[in-house]
Amino acid sequence: MPNETSHPDLYLLAGVSPALEHALAERFTLHRKDPPTTTRAIVGGGMSVVDTALLDRLPALEIVAIHGVGHDGIDLAATRARGIAVTTTPDVLTDDVADLAIGLMLAVQRGIAANDRAVRGGEWKVDLSRRASGRRIGIFGLGQIGKAIARRARPFARELHYTARSIKPAFEGVFHADIASLAAACDVLIIAAPGGDATHHIVDAAVLAALGEDGILVNIARGSLVDEPALVAALQDGTIAGAGLDVFADEPTVPDALKAMDQVVLSPHQGSATVDGRAEMAALVVANLDAHFAGEALLTSL
Ligand code: NAP
Repeated sequence: MPNETSHPDLYLLAGVSPALEHALAERFTLHRKDPPTTTRAIVGGGMSVVDTALLDRLPALEIVAIHGVGHDGIDLAATRARGIAVTTTPDVLTDDVADLAIGLMLAVQRGIAANDRAVRGGEWKVDLSRRASGRRIGIFGLGQIGKAIARRARPFARELHYTARSIKPAFEGVFHADIASLAAACDVLIIAAPGGDATHHIVDAAVLAALGEDGILVNIARGSLVDEPALVAALQDGTIAGAGLDVFADEPTVPDALKAMDQVVLSPHQGSATVDGRAEMAALVVANLDAHFAGEALLTSL
């Protein structure tokens, strides 16, 4: 913990839990807007933007501690060039995000959310849904979360397929070099790769057409990976069968067209939002800051 009397300036760039804010306030002078030039630390979320314009305003910045694992808003080339450490909270949220991906997959296939709405509205009818077991499941992005999804998906899957930047020889599944080939080979396409330029709108009309009329899209990664108007069109005209979405192009805005569709399950970017996970993420943020200001090795560094 930094010297109590010094209380370095910290810029809070994202909403955090009261417990994390309390822990930070014990160590730092917190700023929610207009950070002073003496700011030495930023705490942000997975969607926070730290670009050169902000870095230019904060010449004393030493560390950006991200409360999440997404870092597509962080200009890593610029932080590295300035010697600024960037930390995230991997591992502690992996299981929660993977659980949600499986939940969305099952909810779409078995009509759980739509039937819940119907029962609450006084209806008691059963439209036949799709069998969830025995499907070919494809995962785009086989990192921490993608692998955790695969472990959970294996009992449901007739076949497991995946795409990543490199082949994973130890993984029992079929590698596809590109997402169009992956989509064509599976019934359920689960997106678990980072956002950013390399994956922007990688799920486009052609990929959705390859997924096909029985296909389900599940996205727990970032809204930026999906061409959302193309997805809406594909759902409206039956190019694909359904979608389970935790992330959107312009959060918290969700297209009305998606809200109107029973074959779509909507979720408010809640992948890591469990009591347990958020507590562990907060502890890791604080542990990284404590290590940095004590001159010790960081626990998680990009
Ligand atoms: P990770 O361990 O870094 O894994 C990322 C995977 O994506 C890796 O397998 C990587 O391939 C692959 N990948 C990266 N760029 C690619 C590209 N251009 N084309 C194909 N594959 C690519 O990350 P993670 O912890 O699993 O998290 C994945 C993403 O989930 C995060 O970046 C974040 O955006 C999102 N997320 C969402 C929530 C939520 O609340 N919904 C919560 C946490 C995270 P290689 O293995 O070959 O490098």
